[in-house]
Amino acid sequence: MSDAFDLLLVNGTVLNPAAGPRQELDVGIAGGRITAMQAGLPRDGAKRVLDVQDCFVTPGLIDFHVHSYGGVNPYGFDADPICCATGVTTAADAGSAGPVNFPGFRRLVYERSRTRMLSFVAVAQHGVLNVPGELENIGFADPEGAARTVRENPDIAVGIKIRLHVTSVGENGREALGMAVRAGDACDAPVMVHVGNTGISMEEIVETMRPGDVMTHCYTPKQPAIVDPSGRLRPAVLEARERGVIFDVAHANGHFDFDLVSRAMDQGLRPDIISTDLHSRSGAGHVVDLPTTLTKFLMLGLDLDEIVADCTVNAARAIGWEDRLGVLEVGREADVAVLAVVDEETTLEDSVGQRRTTGQRIVARHTIRAGLL
Ligand SMILES: [Zn+2]
Repeated sequence: MSDAFDLLLVNGTVLNPAAGPRQELDVGIAGGRITAMQAGLPRDGAKRVLDVQDCFVTPGLIDFHVHSYGGVNPYGFDADPICCATGVTTAADAGSAGPVNFPGFRRLVYERSRTRMLSFVAVAQHGVLNVPGELENIGFADPEGAARTVRENPDIAVGIKIRLHVTSVGENGREALGMAVRAGDACDAPVMVHVGNTGISMEEIVETMRPGDVMTHCYTPKQPAIVDPSGRLRPAVLEARERGVIFDVAHANGHFDFDLVSRAMDQGLRPDIISTDLHSRSGAGHVVDLPTTLTKFLMLGLDLDEIVADCTVNAARAIGWEDRLGVLEVGREADVAVLAVVDEETTLEDSVGQRRTTGQRIVARHTIRAGLL
C-alpha cells in the first residue's frame, strides 16, 4: 500500500478535534487526498516521508477573517504567502468584494492562490472601503446583488459581510444590519457582522442577528463592547450565544484586549472561531499571523485542542463546510497543518498596548495544501 503514498507523515500526534482525542497515527497522502490514517504505516516505497515527531498533525487551518483582494480593495493584500507559511490552507475574505467586483475576486485571488480563498460578500456594491465608508451613502448597498452573488458562487462565496463601524455606515447602522440579514435570508447563508465603534447598541445588534450569524471582532475594546463598562458580560450577548450566534475573534490592529478577553471568557464567552483579520494595515503590527493569535489564547488559558478546533472544524461548521474542510479523514482532500508548541519566551501584544510574556509559542512547521508541501 505504501508505494502509493506521495507523502507520508510519520511519528506525529494527530490532533483532529472532530474525531475525538489525540492519537498517534501516521497519515498517508496520495493524489492530493488522505488515503490512510493508521499507526505504523509502512514507509518503504513512499515517495516522501516526513518525520513529524513532537509535532501535531491537524486539519489545515482556516483563517476565518482576512482581506486578500490585494490591488483592488484598500484593505486587501496578497495573503497567500503568509497563509502558506503558517499552516493556513483556507482563508475567508471578509467583504473585500461586493456584488459589482466579485468576479474579479474569483479571477485575481481565488484562481491565483494556493490557499483556498473564500469570500464573505459585502452588502456594499464595491466591498468595504476606507474613507468615505462603504455605506455612509446607503445608496451603495445592494443586498439583493450580494445574495445573488452568494447563490451563484457556492464554491467560493460563503456568506454576507456587513460592517457597522460608524466610519463605514455613518448613521445607517440599523438599516444596513437589516439589509444584511435580509441578504443572508435570501441566500440562506450566514451574515458576518463587524462590531466595534458602532452607532447602535450591542443589544440591538445581537438581537437582530440570527442563529448561525457571526459576530466578528467579538473581543473588541471599542464601544459598545460585549462587556459593559463595569466589565460585566452583557446578558443579551450570552443569550445570543445560547441561540447559536457565532463569536469570531478577528484580532486586527484594533480589536483585541487581553483583559477584556479574559473577563469575557471567565463569564462564559469563549470564542467559537479564532481568526486574525490580517489586512494591508494590520500584518506588521501585533497580529503577526494566525499561529501568533492562537498563542495568545494558549497564554490566556484555552487548551491546544480547543484552539485547534476553533480554527478548523468550528470554522468549517460556521459556513456549513464541515463535510469538506476542517477534519482529517481518509478520502478527503489533503489539507493538513503540522504544528508544534515550542518552549520559547515570547512577548505578545494586544491592540491597546499591553504586552505579556509567555513561555510557549505555537508554530507551524509545514502547510500541506491538496497534498502538496
Ligand atoms: Zn476585517
